[in-house]
Amino acid sequence: MQPGRAAAVDRHPPDTRPLSGRRGRHGKPFRRNIARERKELDARLGREHQVNSSNERFQREEAAMPEYTQILYETPAPHVARIVMNRPDKLNAQGNVMTYEIDAAFKHACHDDDIHVIILAGAGKHFNAGHDLTFEDPVMPTEKQAIGMWAQFDAPGWEGGYAREKEVYLEITERWRNAPKPTIAEVQGAVVAGGNMLVWACDLVMCSDDARFRDNTASEMGVPGVEFFQHPYELGVRKAKEWLFTGDWLSAAEAERRGMVNHVVARDELPARTLELAEKIAANNPFTMKLVKESMNKSQDLMGRKHAMDAAFALHQIGHMQALLVHGFPIDITRLHPSLRASIEQMKNANADLAAKASV
Ligand code: ZN
Repeated sequence: MQPGRAAAVDRHPPDTRPLSGRRGRHGKPFRRNIARERKELDARLGREHQVNSSNERFQREEAAMPEYTQILYETPAPHVARIVMNRPDKLNAQGNVMTYEIDAAFKHACHDDDIHVIILAGAGKHFNAGHDLTFEDPVMPTEKQAIGMWAQFDAPGWEGGYAREKEVYLEITERWRNAPKPTIAEVQGAVVAGGNMLVWACDLVMCSDDARFRDNTASEMGVPGVEFFQHPYELGVRKAKEWLFTGDWLSAAEAERRGMVNHVVARDELPARTLELAEKIAANNPFTMKLVKESMNKSQDLMGRKHAMDAAFALHQIGHMQALLVHGFPIDITRLHPSLRASIEQMKNANADLAAKASV
């Protein structure tokens, strides 16, 4: 700070008037105008406001809407973005295309000053059937797509598989979990295996009374739970163990009892009730909401969440390597439903090299 500026600040009482962009009108949620707030703050502090600074140019370039093929990006109410996984014919199974489109949409919503709350929903009868085992999309992330610096995704042995799982399942889900703005999962129908990761990555969960949850990776695929190992924090250790040991379905009612979901509502009310909750949160000060989220996430992290998750991820990799050694494929498909097993066998025979690296 310049010496003269400190004296000038001391001579005058602090200006506590709200910045113009923060005023609400007629009780309506205020609409932020970040550029205007910055200009006013600069004027108040006697700083020169630099219009067309490189930072503002950068923000304008980033504001362009990415193009999506497997998701929809909606703004159903002021300050609310709704990301909809849109592969209902595939039960919204998550392959690479959808993964990076969800990531781009979260990033876009977080960088958009006008968005305060983000909803993650799934089109059709079911929220999400898990990771796409058909491998119809390209399975290896490109350098442009990758959010992390681990690469060599097609390296031999388990080097490629480990790097790929870290990138597309563990760290990208962690990144969504740490998106600064409040997120709400809007969940209906079945949620299977990796689909639970998408639910758990969100801060709040609204689900319909027909929602049901299953992680069958341990009971049917030879790996000890999905990669984003949030199970004990969602269900408590004892119930989480039973859930994984048996592969049984967890009902919406029980998920609510265990604290895994916030509210269970009638199926036809789900979108409206989720939006109502989003709008209520969006009316609050968006920066304070970010601080609440960060405080909660840090609290959970100090309970050891991330370290426990990393340890479970390492054990998950042992599961894949064991399956690869015994069955020649990174998951044990001998217990899978015959139709799914047949499609994987077909893919495996068509592309043995890919089959040895493409895990779930
Ligand atoms: Zn895996």
